[in-house]
This record gives sequence, structure tokens and C-alpha cells, in this order.
Amino acid sequence: VRSHYADVIASNGEILGGVVVYHDMTREEIADRLKTELMATASHELRTPMTSIRGFVDMLMLGTFGEVSATQREPLRVIKNNVVRLVVLIDELLDMSRVEAGEARLRREELDLAEVLRDVIAVLTSQFREREIELHVDFQEGLPHVVADRQRIEQIAVNLIGNACKYTPRGGTVWIGMHNGNGELRVDVRDTGVGISEEAKSHIFTPFYRADNPLRDEVGGTGLGLSITQRLVELHGGRIWFESEVNAGSTFSFVLPIKPEDA
Ligand code: ADP
Repeated sequence: VRSHYADVIASNGEILGGVVVYHDMTREEIADRLKTELMATASHELRTPMTSIRGFVDMLMLGTFGEVSATQREPLRVIKNNVVRLVVLIDELLDMSRVEAGEARLRREELDLAEVLRDVIAVLTSQFREREIELHVDFQEGLPHVVADRQRIEQIAVNLIGNACKYTPRGGTVWIGMHNGNGELRVDVRDTGVGISEEAKSHIFTPFYRADNPLRDEVGGTGLGLSITQRLVELHGGRIWFESEVNAGSTFSFVLPIKPEDA
């Protein structure tokens, strides 16, 4: 049981008594909270030593402690790659636990979503060029604004557009569309990628789940991106879903409520 206490104070300042509010937590809620706290503490504690290891590996590779021989170079590269993977995993775990704890308090401001998405697309352009994937953007003109957290919206967009690029074979196409649909802003990210099998579909938003597909090992990932993305969309009062067919492609869509005065 979680409890909160407050004094009951009369208008002359005299304390008349107290009120205790008991909040009955189920075993499940308690277990959930412990799990979230454990995850937050563990990932935070892991971050510091990893940062140190990463720093020293970088210095070793740069020859700070003496010349690196040809035979030493390869194992150092492997260590470095794995350290980077761990740092990404720890950062995502930390972010996940913050979002889970509802600690990802949103810093809401009025945003032009088209502008935010264009910025994200600009950053990802080189990734698309590298994989020779054609990118089409089709935004409806004069869209109303949303009240949202810019950094979190960028994170949602990077995850969905990044995935479309990752899970689409070389030479494919990705479309990013946005329009006003029934008082909500709707964003669609469609790709001609590997798609998602029927049996994988129900697990796509589950933390750590990575569906079996021909690109899984090549592109790498933690399987945390979409579960964080889903929670972030929901924290904004929106919804996210997808449609997909194996070897044909996927469309991930989300909606956000339009700023009330503009709706
Ligand atoms: P990951 O780090 O593995 O990319 P995500 O949480 O972003 O993790 O996505 C979970 C899984 O959903 C991916 O591993 C992949 O199997 C599948 N997936 C996500 N986006 C797409 C997409 N556009 N096309 C096909 N599969 C996708």
C-alpha cells in the first residue's frame, strides 16, 4: 500500500488533524514498479563503466599507449564494435525505463510537424543514399499544428523512418505522407521492404522482439525502438499501428491530436 499524508489546517493556521490516503497497489503493480526501478538503476550504473571502457578502447586504437600492431587491430575493432552496441543498448534501456515510469514528462510546445519531419528526413538522407533507397515525401499543405515534445516527436520519426530504410532491400522505395484526417494529424511511413509475417505481427511492439527476416542480422538493432515509439505516441494522446505483407512491404502509421483551437 502506498500512502500520502496531509495536515488539515484551519483558516487561523491551527492544525485540526490529518488525512491519510491509502492507495492499494496490486502485487502486479508493485512487481512492475520494482522491475522498472531495477532497470533504471541497472542501466544507469552500467553506463559509467561502459563510457570509460569506450574511452580507453578509442585511445588504444589511436595509439595513445604505443603503436598498435596489425594483429592487434582486428581484436580492438571487435571490442570497439561491441562496446558501441552495448552503449546503444544501455541508452535504450535507460530511455525505456524512463518512459515506462512515466518519467518521460513531455516538454510540450506548439509544433509544425511538417517542419520537424523535414529536419529528421534531412538527417537520415545519407542513410537512404547509402542503401540506394528512393525517398518520396508528400505532405498536405497548410496542416494545423500539434502541441507536442519536439525531441520525442523526432525520436518517433527517426525510429519509424529509420526502420523503413533498414528493413528495405537495396533499391527499394519509401514514402512518407502526412495529412489531416478527422481532426488528427496522420503520418504514414510506407516501404517496399521485407515485410512482417503473420506470426510476428502480434509481437512487433514487444520490448526486445526482433522478427526473423533476411535483413535482421545485417542491420542490427535492440528490438526496443518500436516499443518506446508506441509508448511515446500514446503519451501524446495518439495511436500507432501498421499493415504489412511479407516481401511486399509495410506501412507504419500514427496519429496525433491537433491543437484544440486549430481542430
Ligand atoms: P530493431 O532494433 O530490431 O529495429 P524495433 O523495435 O525498431 O527494433 O522493431 C522491432 C522489429 O519489428 C524489428 O526487428 C523488425 O523485425 C520489425 N520491423 C520494424 N519496422 C519494420 C519495417 N518497416 N519493415 C519490416 N519489419 C519491421
